[in-house]
Amino acid sequence: MLNEIRKDYLLDRWVVIATHRGRRPTDFIKTEEVSPIDRNVRVRASCPFCPGNERKTPPAELVYLKSKNGIVKDRDVNGSRHKDWLIRTVPNLFSAFSPPENGDTFESGRAVGHHEVLIESPNHNEHPAVAREAQLIHVINGYIDRLLALSAKSYTKYVSIFRNYGLDAGASLSHAHSQIIATPMIPTIPRLELNASEKYYDSHGTCVFCDTIAEERRGPRFIWENEAFAVFAPWASVHPFEFWMIPKAHEASLLDMKPTTIKKFAEALKVCLGGLKSLLNDPPYNYGFHIAPSKEIKEFYHWHLEVYPRLTLWAGFEKSTGTYINVMKPEQAAHNLKDIIAQKSGKDQERTLS
Ligand SMILES: [Zn+2]
Ligand SMILES: [Zn+2]
Ligand SMILES: [Zn+2]
Repeated sequence: MLNEIRKDYLLDRWVVIATHRGRRPTDFIKTEEVSPIDRNVRVRASCPFCPGNERKTPPAELVYLKSKNGIVKDRDVNGSRHKDWLIRTVPNLFSAFSPPENGDTFESGRAVGHHEVLIESPNHNEHPAVAREAQLIHVINGYIDRLLALSAKSYTKYVSIFRNYGLDAGASLSHAHSQIIATPMIPTIPRLELNASEKYYDSHGTCVFCDTIAEERRGPRFIWENEAFAVFAPWASVHPFEFWMIPKAHEASLLDMKPTTIKKFAEALKVCLGGLKSLLNDPPYNYGFHIAPSKEIKEFYHWHLEVYPRLTLWAGFEKSTGTYINVMKPEQAAHNLKDIIAQKSGKDQERTLS
C-alpha cells in the first residue's frame, strides 16, 4: 500500500506519513534513557538555576517576588541577587544573540539581539507536566513581560519563546526553564507562516487559523479543549505525536491574552504535556511559540504553540530536502493522546471525590 504525502496548512512543507509498520505508542518509549526529571541531590546543589545559587547566573532582568499585595516585579541591581523569587529571567551565558555595543548597527550583520533564560520555578523539577497551575501562570506572565520588553527594542524584529525538555531535546540543564531569543530579522518559519496567512486572508477574508480550528475541532485529529484553547495534531505533523495548542478566540500575539485566558492556557499546558508524559514515559520534547511580530498585525495571524516530541532522528533525506517522514499517523497520535488525557482526568476526579 502506498504511503500518503501531506502538505502543511500554510507552509510549502511536505510530510510522508509512513505508517505501514503500524507503530504503537510503546514503540517510541526509550527505556534506557534517563528521565529528564532529575532526582539527584548533588546535581541540584550545583544547579545554577536552583535557589541559593543565584550568583552562578548573570543578574536577573526580571524577578517575580511574593508580597502581601500579590506579585512584585523587580530586577537584580548593583551586583546583588534577589532571593525567594517565584520566577527569574537571566541573560543566557552561552548567548546566540547579544545586545548591540557602541557603533553596532543591524546592517553590520552581527547577531544583535537578546538571549535569555526564564527559570520557571525555584523547584528544580517543576516542569509544566507536573507544575502547580499557579506557578505556570507566573511562567506565562513572565513570557508576556519579556516579550513586551524585548519587542520594544528598535533592533528587534521577532521574539522566539521556546522550551527544550530532556537531554535529547537539547536541554543541557535539567532545572525547569524556557528560553527567549530576540532576533534582528523574522526567522524563516514564522515569516513563511505570516506571508501565507496574509495571502489566505486576502483571498478568503478570514483567518486561516480560525478556519483550521473550526475544522480540526470536529475532526479525527482533535485532542482536547477547554473554554479558551483547542489542541489538535496538525494534518501534516512533522513529528510523531506532534500537537498544537491554539486560542479559540482570534488573538495575534501572547500580548492579547487576558488574565482569564492565561489561566486557561496554564491548564491546557499542564493537561496536554501531562498526557504526553504519561503516554510516552516522559519523552524529551521541544515547544515553540509562533507570534505576530508587531502590533499592526491583527487580522490575519493567530498565535499558537507547537509541541514537538523528540522520538525520532532526522537523517539524510530530511536534512537534505526539508521534506519529512513521520512514522506515526497524526490521527492515531491524536487518538492516543486524547485517550490518555481522558483517563487521567477520570482518575483525578476519582481522587477529588474520595
Ligand atoms: Zn536546579
Ligand atoms: Zn484567527
Ligand atoms: Zn506555526
